Amino acid sequence: MKKLKVMSILVYTESENGKLKKAALEVVSYAKAVADQMGTSVTAVAVNADNAETLGNYGASKVLLVKDESIQAFNAKKYAAILESAAKNEGAKVVVVSASANSKYLAPLLAVGLGAGYVSNVVAAPSSVSPFTVKHSTFTNKAFANTEITTDVKIVGLSNNSFGLVESDGSASVEDFSPSVPESGVTVESVDKATDKVSIADAEIVVSGGRGLKGPENWGMVEELAEVLGAATACSKPVSDLGWRPHSEHVGQTGKPVASNLYIAIGISGAIQHLAGINSSKVKVVINTDPEAPFFKAADYGVVGDAFEVVPKLIEKLKAFKAANA
Ligand SMILES: Cc1cc2nc3c(=O)[nH]c(=O)nc-3n(C[C@H](O)[C@H](O)[C@H](O)COP(=O)(O)OP(=O)(O)OC[C@H]3O[C@@H](n4cnc5c(N)ncnc54)[C@H](O)[C@@H]3O)c2cc1C
Repeated sequence: MKKLKVMSILVYTESENGKLKKAALEVVSYAKAVADQMGTSVTAVAVNADNAETLGNYGASKVLLVKDESIQAFNAKKYAAILESAAKNEGAKVVVVSASANSKYLAPLLAVGLGAGYVSNVVAAPSSVSPFTVKHSTFTNKAFANTEITTDVKIVGLSNNSFGLVESDGSASVEDFSPSVPESGVTVESVDKATDKVSIADAEIVVSGGRGLKGPENWGMVEELAEVLGAATACSKPVSDLGWRPHSEHVGQTGKPVASNLYIAIGISGAIQHLAGINSSKVKVVINTDPEAPFFKAADYGVVGDAFEVVPKLIEKLKAFKAANA
């Protein structure tokens, strides 16, 4: 197979409060697979990350570490400039980012700077690197497309939890990187997180509740189930519109996208706008009293039953299972 001449594959690794996110380890794992296909290596870019050397365990051979307190909070214009500078220095022909809201904001700016083609929501390693063809979800996750990126420099946005983490016994050299960063015209004064629990974007498991739960006073069992499973909590749009749950938990077409390994929907009908946001989840479990609820058509496993009976039993069984396997 004809090999492209590249210096390395560049990856943007996201961190929060100095800690690399799980998605950062996944994009590096993915980039390593692409690098192996192309016969090259992986260079990661990290900003204010305390544990940057960890990226070596997932396939990066070099980390360009930007240490700059003035860009502690994400700023798309500044971060795109950092990535552009790194890509040009490294002669990178492929740049990998995650599918987070920040990366989806950053990637188009970077694409303009590098004159690159950008495909988001990629779900697998390239089927071919020459031509460079990637599989990605499309039409709000109702279909997949295989798209060839024909530009010299290519940007891939990887869907969360689509590739997984692949550990290796490699190690990475960490180099300080201080590119010139432009003024952006926007200053982030503070970032107040809606919750300090598992975030929906990073979660492997999401437990989600709908209007079938009747009221906010009944969310205790949703939270308890989420806690037993180490999951994030989410909800349908009406639930957040009614003020039963914070808007940060609203998932769907007009809310957050979910790409978890397991999505448990309790008392949610499965309207098309809800499914649009959660279709990328691998295994969907639905608990609903109505056997005709549309969600059952999209479900991998379904329980026709009253959430107020099923969920407490599920919690009890899971607790017993965990205790027996502790
Ligand atoms: C432009 C637009 C954008 C939208 N975007 C979104 C979006 O991003 N996300 C979103 O979620 N919605 C969105 N919607 C709304 C969407 O169309 C639905 O109205 C909404 O998803 C329904 O929420 P629900 O399933 O919680 O409630 P309902 O439709 O009221 O369904 C409740 C379900 O609970 C079941 N149930 C009742 N009691 C129990 C019980 N005791 N145990 C178990 N099950 C029970 C019922 O059988 C029913 O299926 C959007 C709509 C529009 C028009």
